[in-house]
Amino acid sequence: MSTILITVDLEDWFQVENLRSLYPLENWHKCQVRVEQSTEQLLELFHRYEVKATFFVLGWLAERLPELVKRIKNMGHEIASHGYNHILCSEQDKGALLEDIKKSKQILEDIISEPVIGYRAPSFSITQALVSGLEEAGFTYDSSYNDFHGNSRYGSLPGCWKTVKPGLLINEQGLYEIPISNIKFFGKIFPWGGGGYFRLIPGPLFQKGVKKITQNVGAYVFYCHPWEFDPEQPKVKGLRPDLYLKHYVNLARSLNKLREFLRVFVTARFLTCSQFLTEGCKSPTDSTTIGYI
Ligand SMILES: [Zn+2]
Repeated sequence: MSTILITVDLEDWFQVENLRSLYPLENWHKCQVRVEQSTEQLLELFHRYEVKATFFVLGWLAERLPELVKRIKNMGHEIASHGYNHILCSEQDKGALLEDIKKSKQILEDIISEPVIGYRAPSFSITQALVSGLEEAGFTYDSSYNDFHGNSRYGSLPGCWKTVKPGLLINEQGLYEIPISNIKFFGKIFPWGGGGYFRLIPGPLFQKGVKKITQNVGAYVFYCHPWEFDPEQPKVKGLRPDLYLKHYVNLARSLNKLREFLRVFVTARFLTCSQFLTEGCKSPTDSTTIGYI
């Protein structure tokens, strides 16, 4: 049986890195919050296919929408942290980063009255300072490492990590890492974990790649954002054409595409990140690589 981890970075349309130049943090309070509606669509879909997912929630949103966070939790999903202000880890000094991750953890824990043990960095911008900060703040796992090299915002995995099982690493301080899944063709890594790549790659081809990953690696880690399922969101003017494409490509089709994905993998075992830490996954046929084939 395939093991699939569905993860959702819970942020709104104006909080995305691609739009940062037009919507800095100090202007967020003026923007229309639309995330509840698109999150509800995802919750319905997950309920329909009995998927338990992990929601990495932005602290800024959680402060304003605590009932949404509780609702997600009450539907059996895991609440984890996506930081507070969504500034890339690589652009924050160590002190500011630590403050950000501690603040978001506290806000989320106050809402759900349970420990929050997982974290995902904005745009997978993992750094050494982040890893040290997560250890200091008492997180159990991180899921910020994406080994696709074609995006300069993505960070690299700092320090020494050992494989616990396919798709799961641990460092000397006991912090776990759940990398995003990618795929390797002809020696090259292609982004296969979700987001804009999921919206861009034809559904049947994407599913074929995921089948390969689950067969060869044993587990597949998918990510998406609620705004990717909101085609009615405001269309921003003045954005660079490449950023415009990245943000808006195929928004109107993505919900059906995800529905079809879940239908095709209906027999898979869908685990939250916390469940994945403690439960076994299928043994790999090739254990020399992690997160991709
Ligand atoms: Zn994000």
